[in-house]
Amino acid sequence: MITKFYSNKDEIYNTYDKNDLGFTYSKEKTTFKVWAPSASQVLLKLYSTGSYLEDGATVLSINQMYYDYQTGVWSTTIDGDLHGVYYTYVVQNGNVSSETQDVYSKATGVNSARSMVVDLERTNPDGWDKDKHIFVDEQTKAIVWEIHVRDFSSSNTSGVSKEHRGTYLAFTEMDTKVPNTNAPTCVSYLKELGITHVQLNPVFDFGSVDEATGVEYNWGYDPVNYNVPEGSYSTDPYHGEVRIKEFKQMVKALHDAGIGVIMDVVYNHMYSGGDSCFEKTVPNYYFRKQGNRYLNSAGCGNVTASEKVMFRKFMIDSVRYWTEEYHIDGFRFDLMACHDYETMNLIREELDKIDKRILMYGEPWTADNGDNGISGDDCCSKGNAKKLSSRIGMFNDDMRNGIKGGSDDDTKGYIQGANFDTYKVLAGMLGASSDTFGRWAKRPSQCITYASAHDNLTLWDKLLKSNWCCSDYDTTDPKIINQNKLSAAFVLMSLGVPFMLAGEEFARTKKGDHNSYRSPDSVNSIDWQRTITYKDLVDYYKGLIAIRKKFSLLTLASEDAVHKTYMTYNGKVIAGTMANLDGGPNEYKYMAIVLNNTEEKCSFELKSKYELPNRWYVIADHDIASGEAIRAFDNNFEIRPHSALVIVDADSYDRLHDIKDKNIIPNFR
Ligand code: CA
Repeated sequence: MITKFYSNKDEIYNTYDKNDLGFTYSKEKTTFKVWAPSASQVLLKLYSTGSYLEDGATVLSINQMYYDYQTGVWSTTIDGDLHGVYYTYVVQNGNVSSETQDVYSKATGVNSARSMVVDLERTNPDGWDKDKHIFVDEQTKAIVWEIHVRDFSSSNTSGVSKEHRGTYLAFTEMDTKVPNTNAPTCVSYLKELGITHVQLNPVFDFGSVDEATGVEYNWGYDPVNYNVPEGSYSTDPYHGEVRIKEFKQMVKALHDAGIGVIMDVVYNHMYSGGDSCFEKTVPNYYFRKQGNRYLNSAGCGNVTASEKVMFRKFMIDSVRYWTEEYHIDGFRFDLMACHDYETMNLIREELDKIDKRILMYGEPWTADNGDNGISGDDCCSKGNAKKLSSRIGMFNDDMRNGIKGGSDDDTKGYIQGANFDTYKVLAGMLGASSDTFGRWAKRPSQCITYASAHDNLTLWDKLLKSNWCCSDYDTTDPKIINQNKLSAAFVLMSLGVPFMLAGEEFARTKKGDHNSYRSPDSVNSIDWQRTITYKDLVDYYKGLIAIRKKFSLLTLASEDAVHKTYMTYNGKVIAGTMANLDGGPNEYKYMAIVLNNTEEKCSFELKSKYELPNRWYVIADHDIASGEAIRAFDNNFEIRPHSALVIVDADSYDRLHDIKDKNIIPNFR
């Protein structure tokens, strides 16, 4: 039961549970339905264009809608083929008459002013009926790369054609290269890197960029229409069907490359409370308010009310729509602690009806807990993880801080040589699911493991700041690169779900800008040239990704995986052994990961509940990470300064690689 601190009008409104809010289109007629139980009149206005910018006098007709008291729904049906016709509702609430786009808009004209009727069949690109979701069996098998649509290709280093730079269609260009080189960029690059999913910063319609000019830059965490793709990423924001088709082309191109698509969804607040379609349609319902004051736990002036029946239904309908219509493979919930856990579990249940493998995770915090309007017992914080499905993940900020220190300051974490939060790192390596080292997750599938995201300094900028060394963002100082490699080993060799900001693997810099949400392209664009400058670092990530995919214990996501992983920490060196005895005939039986954050060579011990082998091969060290053996391990049990070491048992390796003579060193580079 949700604790309600502030006004909740569900008690006085009848609600609606069918799936036909918005419009239902056929070639012969279109039916419109809008839930507006507080309204005394609702009119449907049809327009020939999507914006007053295009034409001042384009009203086609004004139509009375009819009210059903039982459901609170106003409806009307218009004969004819309305594909491409724009519409608004004029809603009379008390003395106030508001013209608004549809809460359930599927298409809009430029800058969202009017909704559009669309025959979605006509927006499907060639081969869309054969397009398949990209799913993994467990969330922990996903390797997530977070990217902003515009950043991906806005630089000329992307090699993408000029007309597609910064748009959805950039994702459809294959075999792109850094100009005058053979270095792959964009989707071709991602195929080689080996990540499984991209997470797109907001791609629903947001309010902070003028779609008519596309000049401003913004991350887009300011929703206007949740079920409409953003227009500034399309080649034509004026015609509502174009962005839908181009969005689908993007998804299909990624799917064809074997890469899944996760949407960043921001149901917690909107661009504007008062000017939103929600508030204009049903005032004082969809947002948490105290009197006339919008509560502000989302930090942006208004927080939505997930606990209200019809906003909860909206969230559920919305994720289902993106999954089914756009073939989206997962959702990342912004400021998830603004939402109540009942809503999130209901979303999980609803997605499970489509496919249990659809990814779900979010930020387990708000921007202001004191102004959230629901009880701390009800919100989706880490402390309440046990109330949530084990397939709803949460970003592990404890481990993040333990790895590298504070997000924006000059403090150090383990990788820069500090030791005070090392136990948080150990707990995180075990997917925040270990009773020994610390636990908030039910199992590792709930733990998103990361060192960088769009918020805050990039990992590279943080390393420069915390080492007090220089402000040369193009440095190739091996000390900084080694710390970056250590971070990669933590993120990719842990039991949770690995996640990284796009370009973490090639020393992405925003030149010290810790909050680049509206900074220019010169700060935010991916500089693909850095994949060449920092090729050694990219290859290291690539190798660790390959290792992760070959060792199933890392992605098992169960209590069993935690029990079979034995972690030790001697004050300097972290060492973990993983006994994958049930891993099947095509896997290594034992793997160990060792991390040294000191300036000196250190010795370590390997411990396990199981009898450990005495012959090992090195598959990752200070220099190289590889799916293959680099050399035999010398059994000195020493690790070089500032480095990670990953070793696998030689017997398994020999067996898998059909090496008969145990004295022959296998196939080393
Ligand atoms: Ca927009």
